[in-house]
Parts: sequence; structure tokens; C-alpha cells
Amino acid sequence: MTPRVIFLGGLGRSGTTLLERLLGELPGVAPLGEVVHLWERGVLAGEPCGCGRAFRVCPFWREVGERAFGGWTPVLAGRVMALRRRVDRTRRLGRAHADLPEYVLAYRLLYQAAADVSGAGLVIDSSKHASLAYCLLEGGLDPHIVQVVREPRAVAHSWGKTVERPENGRPMTRWGPVRTAVHWTAQNLALELLARRGARVTRVRYEDLVAAPGDTLAMLTGELGLPPSRLPFLHGTTAHLTTAHTASGNPMRFGVGSIELSRDDGWRRGLPRGRQSLVAALTWPLRARYGYGSPA
Ligand SMILES: [Zn+2]
Repeated sequence: MTPRVIFLGGLGRSGTTLLERLLGELPGVAPLGEVVHLWERGVLAGEPCGCGRAFRVCPFWREVGERAFGGWTPVLAGRVMALRRRVDRTRRLGRAHADLPEYVLAYRLLYQAAADVSGAGLVIDSSKHASLAYCLLEGGLDPHIVQVVREPRAVAHSWGKTVERPENGRPMTRWGPVRTAVHWTAQNLALELLARRGARVTRVRYEDLVAAPGDTLAMLTGELGLPPSRLPFLHGTTAHLTTAHTASGNPMRFGVGSIELSRDDGWRRGLPRGRQSLVAALTWPLRARYGYGSPA
């Protein structure tokens, strides 16, 4: 039986990695990271898993690869990446493509093997892109989409900062405020469109998650159909995180131990006024619908 899949959607720097780590502490849930990047960064580049080992030698992913595909090979990764370029594009949203079944089959086999190896009935893919969520739905998988939204000015501030990737020491991609605002709107609108097409979409605000993680997780376990859990890894806004075999994603996936959840309001001082206004104007009125204030 195909495991249930939670797909975390939204624009990067919105808290999807944090939410994945917290959900991953629930019994019966296996967090897999950003599977969309696994083919290139894990299989081909050999970047580390969240457990700290190189993807190729991580026992979890080695076993998943064996079960799903008879082993990871550059040919397999290249094939999935080629299929992705053809079918998994934001501008192709909602359009049928002859290669879609083969592309989705790779994900289906991977999710199934990850569930079998971990013993979890539910896997999390935090790939974020609405276009992949569309592909999975069109391909017959029925992911429960969790849309993570965050104040767009905070997101723009984060995208404007220089951050080093722990995987290889190279800087993470930087975007200016206009580009961030356009992508923020496009991703969130696309995820809303999925809901209108009948997909199960639950929205979570990053600000609510860090202010009251216990309440947010309790709401989500109900929405996701998980049994109520005591959340022993949470004490107020302190979370105790254990190792997770996440294949790719934000540097936060490597953190183990106690972390204090707190809202990062650095954008109020760090993002120049003019840029704040620009982002605020460009993301209106969607921003207001998510509870992020007035037009100014
Ligand atoms: Zn690992």
C-alpha cells in the first residue's frame, strides 16, 4: 500500500524545514527533506544527509535506493532530472504531459521504500514547489499539502542575506525584494489553486508555529488524521530534535538537540524602509488574507 504523503509547500525561507523537523518527531512519521533536490544534490553530488553522512553511505538512503530502484545510479538521477525539466515546471501547471506517469512513479517508489525502511505510515516531502504537488496529484498520488506562509517582508529579508550552505561552503541563492515578492505570490496562489481543484490543503503560518508550536502541531495532527500525541519533544517553545534522514534542504535540517523557537523579526531593522514598502505593495492583497496587516 502506498504510504500517506505530507507535502510541505510554500516559498523557501518560510519555515518549512522547521515544521518538517517538528512533525518528524511524531511517531509513525518519516521526514525525507526536499526530495525534488535529492536526485542532483544527493545522488549525483553526494551531499550529506541530515544525519551527517554522505548521501551515498547513509544506511537509510542506501536501503531506500536498493528497494525502490535496485540502487541509486547517475543514469536514474539523470533520467528523473530530465523528466522534471519537461513536466515539473511552474509555467506548465495543470497541463497534461506524456512523461508525467514515469516522473511520478519515481516519487511513488521512493515514498513507498522510505515508508518500508523507516516503518512509518506517513512520509514528509518538503520540496515546497507547487508544481511538484500538481504533478503528484495528477499522477494519482494524494498528498496532503501543508502550505506554510510567512510575513513576506521577513521572507524578503531572509532571501537578501548571504548564507553559506554547510554542504559545500558555497553561498545560498540570494534574491532581491521584487523577485522574492513575485515568487511568494506565485507559489502561494498556485497552492491555493490546488485546494480549489480538490486537493487537501492545510495552511500554517510560521508566526503561529513559533509562538505556539504545541497548538499548531495539535491542529495539524488532527487535520492530517494522525492519532493525538503527547509531543514529549516540546516544552513550551523549546523543541528537542533528534537526527533525521533528510536528503536535501535548508541548513536547519542538520540541527540536533534543543532549539528555542522564536520569531525572527530582524527584517524590521534589517530590510530598508523602501524595500519593505515595495514588498508590502507587491504582495497585497494576498498578504492581508493571511493576516499580515495593512497595505503600508
Ligand atoms: Zn542519513
